[in-house]
Amino acid sequence: MIRQQVRSKGSKLSVSVEPRDEKALEKALEIHRKAIVIDTHNDITTAMTNDDYDLAGPPPVPYRTSIERMKQGGLTAEFFSLYVKPWYVTNGGAARRTLDMIDSVYRAVERHPNDLMLATSAADIRRAKKQKKIAALMGIEGGHAIENSIAALREFHRLGVRYITLTWNNTNDWPTRREARKSTMA
Ligand SMILES: [Zn+2]
Repeated sequence: MIRQQVRSKGSKLSVSVEPRDEKALEKALEIHRKAIVIDTHNDITTAMTNDDYDLAGPPPVPYRTSIERMKQGGLTAEFFSLYVKPWYVTNGGAARRTLDMIDSVYRAVERHPNDLMLATSAADIRRAKKQKKIAALMGIEGGHAIENSIAALREFHRLGVRYITLTWNNTNDWPTRREARKSTMA
């Protein structure tokens, strides 16, 4: 056992640090490399859409995503988040904004065919893993994205979107955000 002195806010703190178990680490990495690792929400799509960030890095602040970093972290699948600002609820154009974001994900896959693969199913994710590619999936953040149109929802599904949250932090015409519901109940 190794004892280390750590300075914390002016006072000395003595902590015990176990030496790293290299065997356990290697075993853990082996399991991690074999596993299907999925990130279900990444807002990098905003930078991809607004600034044409193409995932080749270095990642723009405050985002931390690049193909290199996804590979380093052993990521199998990424859900690119289609985040549509509540601004679009009052000003219109939420569905158009969602389409622009979907386009940025498609373009990233087109730009990096050896690293990324568009995926819409569990089978696609397994295929990507076998091909040592990152599966690119899409999820919508905020039900207002469909502009109250079930047809638009179907179209987004046809384009490959595989989840949609009912709300973001804002209420829309069909679901009520949690805080708003609480205050109307009070
Ligand atoms: Zn988000």
